[in-house]
Amino acid sequence: MDTLFRRVTPFTGKMKCGVCGQPFTRKKGTIRGKTYVHWICRSQKETGMSCTSVNFSEEELERISARTLGMDEFDGAVFEKAVRGITVMENGDLEFHLTGGETKVWKNLHLDPPRHIATVTDCFQGKIRCAACGNTYHRVNGAGKWVYWYCIGKKRKNVECHNPNYTDYKLRQVSAHMMGLEEFDEAEFEKQIEEITAFPDGSLEFNFYGGRKERWQRA
Ligand SMILES: [Zn+2]
Ligand SMILES: [Zn+2]
Repeated sequence: MDTLFRRVTPFTGKMKCGVCGQPFTRKKGTIRGKTYVHWICRSQKETGMSCTSVNFSEEELERISARTLGMDEFDGAVFEKAVRGITVMENGDLEFHLTGGETKVWKNLHLDPPRHIATVTDCFQGKIRCAACGNTYHRVNGAGKWVYWYCIGKKRKNVECHNPNYTDYKLRQVSAHMMGLEEFDEAEFEKQIEEITAFPDGSLEFNFYGGRKERWQRA
């Protein structure tokens, strides 16, 4: 079933941004000939600048919802009956508010640390490039808890970018994995990685010095 052209989906009107309180809206875009459907905070869509909430592809939302609700495969009718609303939290967790009154939390990026572990990594500066708008990622230190990297295109006027954010810790984990290391090493990163390309679907392409490229897919 081709879902790209649906206008009303089970998620319509059900998702709210936990950072700024605006609803999430559906956004379709084409990058390099491939169509992506994303759900983004409305304040990002309207102003392109005022909210740094985490975005989700529709595919990802369906997968997460299926897992959270215990379905083998996503079923829109079951979802609509079971879920009153979803709040997208600042760290990318999703709070599912169920019609029965219960709340279920889906934890974003299972590799992410508990809130009290925050890493701040300098060597990512200037090395992460957004595939959607061509700008680089910049760091936000969130009140001593989470450190995020986000595409600076989100803050620029006349650029409409909705590429996903990453926690510093997550980037370290993924980078270590891609370099075949048990633990992240800043010197190794500087030595091996020329640039990381961040794609709208959340995947990261690591460009190694010497021309090797490897792609990491968001789980
Ligand atoms: Zn928002
Ligand atoms: Zn961008």
